[in-house]
Amino acid sequence: MPQTKYIIDDNTWEELIELTNGAAAVCFQCGVCTAVCPWGLVKEETLSVRSYMRAAQLGLQKNGNENLWLCTTCAQCEAYCPRGVDIADVFRGLRYLAWKNNHPHEGLPSLLWSVYWNNNPWEQPPSQRTNWAKNLDLPIFDPEEHEILYYVGCTASYDTRAQKVAHAVVSLLNAAGVPFGTLGEDEPCSGEEVLSVGHKHYFREMADNATKAFKEGGITQIVTTDPHSYDAFKNHYGNAIQPFHYTQYLANLIEEGRLTLPAPRSPLPAKVTFHDPCYLSRHNDEIEAPRKVLNAIPGVELVEMPNIAEDTLCCGGGGGRMWLETEPGERFSDLRVEEALSTGAQLLATSCPYCIACLEDSVKAQGITELVVMDVAEIAALAIKQ
Ligand code: SF4
Ligand code: SF4
Repeated sequence: MPQTKYIIDDNTWEELIELTNGAAAVCFQCGVCTAVCPWGLVKEETLSVRSYMRAAQLGLQKNGNENLWLCTTCAQCEAYCPRGVDIADVFRGLRYLAWKNNHPHEGLPSLLWSVYWNNNPWEQPPSQRTNWAKNLDLPIFDPEEHEILYYVGCTASYDTRAQKVAHAVVSLLNAAGVPFGTLGEDEPCSGEEVLSVGHKHYFREMADNATKAFKEGGITQIVTTDPHSYDAFKNHYGNAIQPFHYTQYLANLIEEGRLTLPAPRSPLPAKVTFHDPCYLSRHNDEIEAPRKVLNAIPGVELVEMPNIAEDTLCCGGGGGRMWLETEPGERFSDLRVEEALSTGAQLLATSCPYCIACLEDSVKAQGITELVVMDVAEIAALAIKQ
């Protein structure tokens, strides 16, 4: 057996305290975090979350440690931690030290390089950022004319599946008569994936640059496609901008009577179940908005899965896991699809591009034909497609 190499020194300890605001200090090693972590549902030997908190308390750094990169930052453990430890942030701090010591997960440096060179983590050319919208004639944001900036985000700009969600959001904003603009090719990467894989210093630089660009552009309100960028803007950028996830913005429009969703011409499947993305529900307490939108669509009967709201089951795509391989049989999304099937729903709705990708992969891999995965925006857009 190869010996695990530990690094222990005062500098590591001090740096970790600084990186995480000393988050692990109050941990009393009860092990609840390990018990509730979803890796325990799919792995024989689960992720020992508690031991990482201990390592952080002592300033221990283990190099070449693959398990450090398992955490999806889903915050299930935080919801149950009796000491209120910001566990995901401790993982991000430990990951930062791994980057610093030149021991990141081998699948992740390409992500960072792509963000650096291409302004997106998907290794796509910056010049093609707006290809998804080439027939839409979307205006560049102008503070004199526009109420909001629609922040499309990297995944919805480049991923062909997520692009359909961006199209749906645009058609709903148009249907409500909302004056909005985008930043076109100049849209900055939010850096959420850089943060979640732990490169806190690079993320800070990105966040500061983007904030400056938003301020200079007179942007104060941003509507995002994905909950991860929403979380980055809301909780890690500062207070200069007011972000909304698109479900929140649409729910407000519906409440104000600015957006009405008539019955779609082709009838929807009656039963829809909703998968709460971790970065909406657990990280940001947003449970109601996506349900308000779904409930406003004629023909939708919302049926709930066993694990919802702050108890949602992570799809497995956060924390940089979208860029890493997860063995078949160890995918949380397989379990989530089983849960969705147990409700008798024909549509599994969600509102995050990572969740869509993971859940759809699971549906396809298992050859399931009786369940279709759709974004809330796509379902709502069906209603206005007359
Ligand atoms: S649940 Fe909280 S207090 Fe208990 S071991 Fe985990 S981090 Fe520490
Ligand atoms: S954030 Fe999620 S994946 Fe990470 S340790 Fe906590 S429960 Fe496990």
